[in-house]
Order: sequence, then structure tokens, then C-alpha cells
Amino acid sequence: MGESYKVAVIGAGIAGLLTARELQRQGHHVTVFEKASKVGGIWVYTQRVETDPLGLDPNREIIHSSLYKSLRANLPRQAMEFLDYPFPKKQGGDDQRTFPGHEEVLRFLQDFARDFGLMELIQFGHEVIRVELVDEVTHEWVVESRTRENESTWESKEELFKAVVICTGNQSEPNIAEFPGRDTWPGLQMHSHNYRSPEGLENKIVVLIGNGPTAVDLLREISPLAKQVHVAVRTPGFQMPGVENNDNVWQHSMIECAHTDGKVVFQDGAIVDTDVIIHCTGYKYHFPFLKSNGIVTVDDNRVGLMYKHVFPPSLAPWLSFVGLINRSVVFRVMELQARWVAKVLSGTVELPSQEAMASSVEELYSEMEKNGIPKNLTHSLLNNEVEYVSWLAAQLNIKPLKRWKELTVVSIIGGGVHYGENFRDTWDIDKWMQEIDSSD
Ligand SMILES: Cc1cc2nc3c(=O)[nH]c(=O)nc-3n(C[C@H](O)[C@H](O)[C@H](O)COP(=O)(O)OP(=O)(O)OC[C@H]3O[C@@H](n4cnc5c(N)ncnc54)[C@H](O)[C@@H]3O)c2cc1C
Repeated sequence: MGESYKVAVIGAGIAGLLTARELQRQGHHVTVFEKASKVGGIWVYTQRVETDPLGLDPNREIIHSSLYKSLRANLPRQAMEFLDYPFPKKQGGDDQRTFPGHEEVLRFLQDFARDFGLMELIQFGHEVIRVELVDEVTHEWVVESRTRENESTWESKEELFKAVVICTGNQSEPNIAEFPGRDTWPGLQMHSHNYRSPEGLENKIVVLIGNGPTAVDLLREISPLAKQVHVAVRTPGFQMPGVENNDNVWQHSMIECAHTDGKVVFQDGAIVDTDVIIHCTGYKYHFPFLKSNGIVTVDDNRVGLMYKHVFPPSLAPWLSFVGLINRSVVFRVMELQARWVAKVLSGTVELPSQEAMASSVEELYSEMEKNGIPKNLTHSLLNNEVEYVSWLAAQLNIKPLKRWKELTVVSIIGGGVHYGENFRDTWDIDKWMQEIDSSD
């Protein structure tokens, strides 16, 4: 064990819990700030939705969770367990499914927090409103948090830390589709962040924008009761599961424009009298509390500069982010990131120089540009998950993990596509894993 510091972790979702555990293992003194009253982050389902269904009003009260009532994990349990903490089907447990419901995932995270003694480290009901470097020489950070005193008043406090790890998640601030006429179109528009159930959509004509896992789930849930569902898909050549077998579902290209008489015009020429538009269009990075003097920026959903998606070079290792990555088997990737942060802080793993870190990020940007990959996919690991995970494992002296290659998000999506829209119930993952093991 090396140096030991006073470290603040912001957020007690998966990233925050893993980070707290790893920091504690390295002997650091950890305080976790969590604005909610429970651990689990996005997995704490709530029936409540925001006052602005599109999430555009900056003064709205933010509801953190983006889960819908029927949500089941789109990854198998085996891809959501940690290195030394499995996610088994519990004997006699309520949910024995390989792709569990959200309640079961939350239970797993609560067990994890309890079993590693993390609950005592967490200040619940503490929303962080400012994180700022107050001393550039000693690298001291102030964390200002507020707690609710009563309905209308807050009490705030400041505390100094040597290091701060930001684990506030990246799936709560809606990103919406832009098209001419969006503002004046008269029907109901919402982002999937504020969708909980199909109630109220009976006999309606619904447009779903997007073709990610949420759009696929919502299409399956809404189409049996809606009059019609039209899916607007941006990716050329993508065949939306669930369109072919339903005679009240159509797939289109993107929306061209929307009119004040309720009509929605698609780029493929179709015109549909529409009642409801649901934007299943993902989320934006958002760190309203971070005062970094322009060092950490968010530009077109790229958080920059960020060495290996974790450390801003000029503030490393005293400021770090766990969980910026997406389109990956996030639980396992975040575990390695958390361990890396903890070991870098204790001095048992070294970072390259500030200049070397900055040029590594610039190289990534040029590589992306050369390959035509848009900026907003900077933190998507879709096609280089194995490479990234192997790199992190090497920093930590961990052997390449068994089944690591098979349990990447690409192979799981591949399996999902192969088994169709009901893949959660038709794909025998245990058999698939046995076949992988026997082919070793
Ligand atoms: C609809 C949906 C389905 C998904 N399904 C899967 C799946 O099947 N499998 C999978 O692996 N992943 C899935 N994901 C991805 C999921 O986001 C991640 O698995 C994971 O929850 C991210 O964890 P996190 O800790 O980074 O963030 P979060 O879970 O968002 O946790 C962040 C925490 O920070 C707290 N916080 C935020 N701001 C502050 C502040 N200012 N002060 C104090 N506390 C703060 C929040 O209250 C929250 O508790 C899904 C995501 C969505 C939206």
C-alpha cells in the first residue's frame, strides 16, 4: 500500500460504489456524496417523471433514473458481475432470469454496498453543487454540497479534499432530436427518460425516434396497444426488430419536419398524422457542479481532454471520472477504471507525464477524424472494448480475463440480433458459455 489521501466520490451508483470500494482497499479515506436516499443510481426506479417531458427546462427538478417499469437488463447477469463478486441466480430468489428485471439489478448493487461496508461511507441526501480546485500548489479541492432542510430551504456545507472522483452517471440529461417544426408541433413529445409505461398510448399514433435498445423495448411494449407506431431510424440499412411481424408498425428514415396541424413528414416521403413523439435519442454529459476554469469541457458530447476516458491530464490524478464510457459492458469496465484510479492515487501505478497523456488524447482524436468517427462517439467503446479493457488490465497487472472477449457488448448485441426481439427469453446464455468454455 502507498500514499493515503482524503478522497471525495460524487455519486453512489455502480461507478461510485466500485470506486469507494477500491479506494478503501488502497487505504484512502473516502466520503461518498449521494443526492438520493439510496444506492444504485439509475437502477433506483421511480414512477415520478420530470415536469418537462422533453427535459429542456433548465429549472426543472431533475429525476435521475431513466428506467421504465418493465425494464429488464439487456445484458446477461454474467456480464454485470464484478471480478470477485458474482451476480448469481439466487436459490428461491424472486427473479431467476438470466436477463434480470431492474429490481434484481438494484438488489445486487445494494448487496454489494452492504457486503463491502460501503453504506457507512455515504452521505445520502447530499447534492454536490460545486467542485473546485482551491489550491493549485497543494491540489486541494473544495466540495460544496447541499441538503434539504424543508420544502423550500437548503443547508449547504463545504469540505476540503485532496482528490475528487466524479461518478455522476451519463444517462439522465436527455439529448433530443432536432427537426424543423419541433417547437411548434402541437402533440405530446417526450424523451424516453420520462417514459415509464405505455399507459395513455392506447389507440394513439406514435412516432419513436431511435434504434437503440430503449427504442426496441418501447416498440415491443407500445405496439400491441397503439393504433400505429412509426419508427424513425437514422442508421442506413438497420432493420428494426419488431417491424416485420407487426401490421401496425412501420420503419422510416429520419423526420424531415413537423407541422402545426400535427403531421410529421419523414425523409422517405411518408406523412403521418401523429399524436405522440417519443425521442429515444440518448443522453448528454452534464457536470453543472464542476468549476474547472475551462480545463474540462463538454463539446458535442466529447468530454475533453480525458486520458483514457478517466484523467484530465493537467489535473491528474487529483480529479478523475469513472463511468464516462458507454456502449460497453459498463459494470466490468468501470470496475477496472475504479481500481486504476485508486492505485494511481496511492502511487502503486504510475501515470505518464502530463504532456504524454495530452498527446495520447490528441492521437485518439486524430484517429477518430481519420476514420470518420463523429465526436459524439468519443467515449463509445463499441468497437474497441477488448483493446481498452486489456490496456486497463495490463496497468493493473490483471491477466486477460476468461470470457472477456465473448462478453463484450458487440458479441452480446450480435447474440441479441440473432435471437430476435425476444432474445432475453430465447437465448440460452448458459449453454452459449459452456460452448465457449469447451472450445478453449
Ligand atoms: C434505460 C437504461 C437501461 C440500461 N440497461 C443496462 C443494462 O441492462 N446493463 C448495463 O450494464 N447497463 C445498462 N444501462 C447503463 C447504466 O447507465 C449503467 O449500467 C450504470 O447504471 C451507470 O452507473 P453510474 O454509477 O455511472 O451512473 P448512475 O447509475 O447514473 O449513478 C450516478 C449517481 O450519482 C448521483 N449524483 C448525480 N449527480 C449528483 C450530485 N450533483 N451530487 C450527488 N450525487 C449525484 C445520482 O443520484 C446517482 O446515484 C442502462 C441505462 C439506461 C438508461
